[in-house]
Amino acid sequence: MRDAYYVHGESTVLLISKQNGNSTLISKKDFNNGNILNKITDMNDFKNKIEFHPVTAYSKDIYGTIFISIHISSKCNLNCSYCFRDDNKDNSISFAESKKFIDLVIEKFPNGNKFIVDLSGSGEPLLNLDLLLQINEYCKIKRDEILKEITVMIATNGTLLSSEMVELLQSKGIIFGVSVDSSSKTTSHRVDFSGKPVHRKIIKNIKKIKERGFLGAAYTLTGKTTDIVKDLKYLYKFFPTISIKPVRSDDREIGINSYTINKIKKIYNDLYNFLLKEAYNDKLSYFIALLDGDDYFAKFLYRAILNIRVNRRCDAGLGRYSLATDGKIYVCPAAVNIKELEIGDIENGINHDRIQGILSTFEAGDECASCFAQYYCGGECMVNIIIKHINPGNVDKDMCIYRRHLVYLALCLVHNVGKNKPNILHKLSEYCELKSKRNVTNPDIIKVANRFGDKYSFTEIMRIEFEEKDKFALLLSQPEG
Ligand code: SF4
Ligand code: SF4
Repeated sequence: MRDAYYVHGESTVLLISKQNGNSTLISKKDFNNGNILNKITDMNDFKNKIEFHPVTAYSKDIYGTIFISIHISSKCNLNCSYCFRDDNKDNSISFAESKKFIDLVIEKFPNGNKFIVDLSGSGEPLLNLDLLLQINEYCKIKRDEILKEITVMIATNGTLLSSEMVELLQSKGIIFGVSVDSSSKTTSHRVDFSGKPVHRKIIKNIKKIKERGFLGAAYTLTGKTTDIVKDLKYLYKFFPTISIKPVRSDDREIGINSYTINKIKKIYNDLYNFLLKEAYNDKLSYFIALLDGDDYFAKFLYRAILNIRVNRRCDAGLGRYSLATDGKIYVCPAAVNIKELEIGDIENGINHDRIQGILSTFEAGDECASCFAQYYCGGECMVNIIIKHINPGNVDKDMCIYRRHLVYLALCLVHNVGKNKPNILHKLSEYCELKSKRNVTNPDIIKVANRFGDKYSFTEIMRIEFEEKDKFALLLSQPEG
């Protein structure tokens, strides 16, 4: 059957349409029955072609949410084994440069719906607290000026999260996530400069936080990870949102490569079985914890649940810009210091010809065009291509085995939950719809701001919407004019 890719599991086969990425899961017994296959592939939703157009031309209207990343500090108080920093110099950007960069990006995107200012950088952002607070104040002014959401966020290593610090960040509306290790006491990658693991100290700080409703954990998957399910359960005691992402490393033991890939696939099989069992028991909390943040597997699960297709891997250079401490601008935070992915500087602005050149150079190649996961994956990461010395247009074969496995598991999960617990899949789908709305400024807030802008600032209207639902409903119900 030429219209589909088959992905063989132990007792099932996943059929994925070459035309549009639609999929169906059948038993091996049925797979061997040609009539059933013909019946499936005759179905319109399996044969209708989606034109797959990789984004190769620069356009500023592709993404509604724009990410503005500023490296406010390259200094860190930890010395983690998988850290990608080149050095630990105390480089930082000035407030004037940060302000200029925010203005520059916002002006470039008059149709941008929401702006996220990420001040995580390559060091520990809380080591440059004054600048963090200054930028946050400026974003408030800017938000009230342009009547759009501008959210400031950081990822911190958690060591400086004293109760006072948490209170300060929360009172200023700064969203923060914490990078953590697994629960394992022996394989800690996060250590201070004396080599001492800091995991306990971080968890001690987290336990003291009273309002943890929006707290996320960023957990790095390495070749040494042994049990994601155990780690997920452990972290969920402290964090409602958990994002597991693979480490970017060339190290044979730590990275995802031919030595570690089979073990990692097995770890994800365990996660799949765990989540399936949870769904069959009507439990959604771990699904939500993963779907809520920026988890690598949940990204594919989200697309499978909502039946979303992607035509490029990410928004780097199109809806995401990063200012380094030396004033250079790159396509994304992970691209900082990579010459090939530099697209301007704070003096001269963003060079769009340069972005166009990068998009053409890193266009997805033949391997992606004939890959069953293309509609869910979108292609190889440009940073990974440079770090691993891969020719542009080619892929990181081991990472592709990993990605394809996750796409396969995500599709199987959706099929099995949909077949056996349709109400649970429906709930998950409702949750994903809700999450998708977070990527845009709430249109009701814009309506109220347009009517009552002379009475309330945009920031105040956002607060009313969040804290005083009745009052907000009353404002919204007022006639225009
Ligand atoms: S898994 Fe690899 S080959 Fe497939 S679409 Fe993604 S990057 Fe391309
Ligand atoms: S280029 Fe790679 S690191 Fe940068 S945003 Fe895209 S996927 Fe992420």
